[in-house]
Amino acid sequence: MISDHYDVIVIGGGPAGSTTAALVAEYGHRVLLLEREEFPRFQIGESLMPGTYWSFKRLGLLEKLKKSAFVKKYSVQFFSGSGKGSAPFYFHLHDPHESSITYQVLRSEFDLMMMDNAREKGAEVKQGASVHQVHFSGDKATGVQIRYRDGQIKDMSASVIVDATGRSALISRRLKTKTIEPKLKKASIFTHYKGAFRDEGIDEGATLILHTQDKDSWFWYIPLADDVASVGVVGGLDYLLQNRKRTPQEIFEEELAKCIRMEERLAGAEQLFPMKVTQDFSYRSNTVAGEGWVLVGDAFGFIDPVYSSGVFLALKSGEMAADAIHEGIEKCDFSAGQLGKWGPEFLPGMEAIRKLVYAFYTKDFSFAKFLKAHPECIDGVINILKGNVYREDVTPIFEPMGQMCDLPETVDHYS
Ligand SMILES: Cc1cc2nc3c(=O)[nH]c(=O)nc-3n(C[C@H](O)[C@H](O)[C@H](O)COP(=O)(O)OP(=O)(O)OC[C@H]3O[C@@H](n4cnc5c(N)ncnc54)[C@H](O)[C@@H]3O)c2cc1C
Repeated sequence: MISDHYDVIVIGGGPAGSTTAALVAEYGHRVLLLEREEFPRFQIGESLMPGTYWSFKRLGLLEKLKKSAFVKKYSVQFFSGSGKGSAPFYFHLHDPHESSITYQVLRSEFDLMMMDNAREKGAEVKQGASVHQVHFSGDKATGVQIRYRDGQIKDMSASVIVDATGRSALISRRLKTKTIEPKLKKASIFTHYKGAFRDEGIDEGATLILHTQDKDSWFWYIPLADDVASVGVVGGLDYLLQNRKRTPQEIFEEELAKCIRMEERLAGAEQLFPMKVTQDFSYRSNTVAGEGWVLVGDAFGFIDPVYSSGVFLALKSGEMAADAIHEGIEKCDFSAGQLGKWGPEFLPGMEAIRKLVYAFYTKDFSFAKFLKAHPECIDGVINILKGNVYREDVTPIFEPMGQMCDLPETVDHYS
């Protein structure tokens, strides 16, 4: 039985859900944010893109971030299989504005900060509240069933249900709108280290992306506060996990032995927890919204960890969905067309990142060679790395790039 009604119920208190909840509550609507965990909780995805600045500004979080202990990130640097480093991509050289500096965040603290912000803006927040069912009346989402930690079960109704459940993707799994990105079937093994080597000065906070010898896998190195570094390896699912009878720890160490620059950084460092494993994280729903429901962040889709785009896209979609929801409430229009009207605007940015991801995974493609042959594309590439994915100089890079590697067809059928 439905026992309580909200304008909006947001399921999931990660960056996407907290953004939508904060902004819809700020518009003055009644919002319930449901999170199954008790925060702080571990989450992967610690390196931010500079493009997140504008969402933080709107959310009123810039000052908190500036005062936080999160490490400042000025650049990203790539290393080839032979261990040769590219020149770092310094974001502020491209655009000397404070939005060019971003952060490496411990997600437990960052996500808590975002959830607290949603509460401060007026959203009602319940943790330990797992949604195990979204109620539908025909095609229209009408509410949720919540199971609390103590076993209590409660039904709530709302005009709009926002699925921000991350890779649980509650609604798109149920409605079978989720499509796996077939050429990006990847897996990852990761942990944190204390005392790993880190560069100094402006390079201290750089994200490093390091290919292993044969480019079958790559490592990320993300320096966090308190001398902790997040380190993970990513490779094809079959290569990394399915064709090897080894523990995650053994596989990680075997890959590490093929990545000299990473091995050097970790010499003498202390591993802080057992390896975590995740897989099949590249997918997308074939729609962003339906009658009475909308998907944001990873619940809509995720591409790949390589350019640290996940939180950026979570914030951006959370923001755009919040505006569409507010407008829908004002007009009493909860149709798919209204709640998903931001899709066609949002998608091209995600597509640009997706194409650059395909280029990264093309073994014989080299960004250095491409940019040498096409210096007019440098700004476009840097803009994608920064999260300025809607700039005019982004799309034109894919014509010449497509002549040097196989890029995917653009997906443009979203509503
Ligand atoms: C290996 C790997 C590395 C990555 N590295 C980066 C990186 O460096 N930078 C970056 O920006 N991104 C990175 N990402 C992506 C990033 O983790 C995600 O894009 C980001 O966390 C998405 O935020 P979200 O709010 O959509 O989902 P999440 O952060 O997953 O939050 C979803 C929340 O929903 C809650 N939830 C789930 N189901 C329910 C339910 N039924 N009821 C109630 N609550 C529920 C969960 O507990 C969770 O708190 C990486 C991803 C992977 C796989």
